Amino acid sequence: MVSVDYFSGYISKLIEQLSRLPGIGPKTAQRLAFHIISMPEEQVFQLAETIEKAKSNVQYCSECFTLTDQEKCPICRSENRNHKVIMVVETPRDLAAYEKTGKFEGVYHVLHGAISPMMGIGPDDIRLKELMQRLQGDVEEVIIATNSNLEGETTAMYISKLIKPTGIKVSRIASGVPVGGDLEYIDEVTLLRALEGRVEL
Ligand code: ZN
Repeated sequence: MVSVDYFSGYISKLIEQLSRLPGIGPKTAQRLAFHIISMPEEQVFQLAETIEKAKSNVQYCSECFTLTDQEKCPICRSENRNHKVIMVVETPRDLAAYEKTGKFEGVYHVLHGAISPMMGIGPDDIRLKELMQRLQGDVEEVIIATNSNLEGETTAMYISKLIKPTGIKVSRIASGVPVGGDLEYIDEVTLLRALEGRVEL
């Protein structure tokens, strides 16, 4: 917590709330707070309104569970995507990272986490059941693109064991992705290489 007694109550409150955001330390929170105060009123209202609207309108895509503001996300609705190839990722941020490469033509499935016995996160705590339900449709390949840390690998193994008996091809992105690496921070070339070098499990 920042010691901000010398500011007014509202500024202190703003700094405190901003510093609760991930990656925002007390100093950055203070800088952002002062910046917001100095912004034209109209812009501040717009920012506040956008945050509020995003929060109240965003929902999970009924098919892939990424964040969207409609029942189905644009990728799941697109006729130009190959709906028979599903890439399984941990978070909507990972999906965004792969989309930035512009080279993946399939669709996604967002698990919203990874299996972690240490953290008490089991298969039922992520969107795994929903993935298995999707596989009852016409699916040719599932590409598992979970992170290459312990949780990601555990999840990949678990999913591949579940899918194997269905006869659907299961592959894992190549291990060019740094161990423990957050997919979001990996450059597009590395991601593409990982995707193209995927190995069948
Ligand atoms: Zn979707």
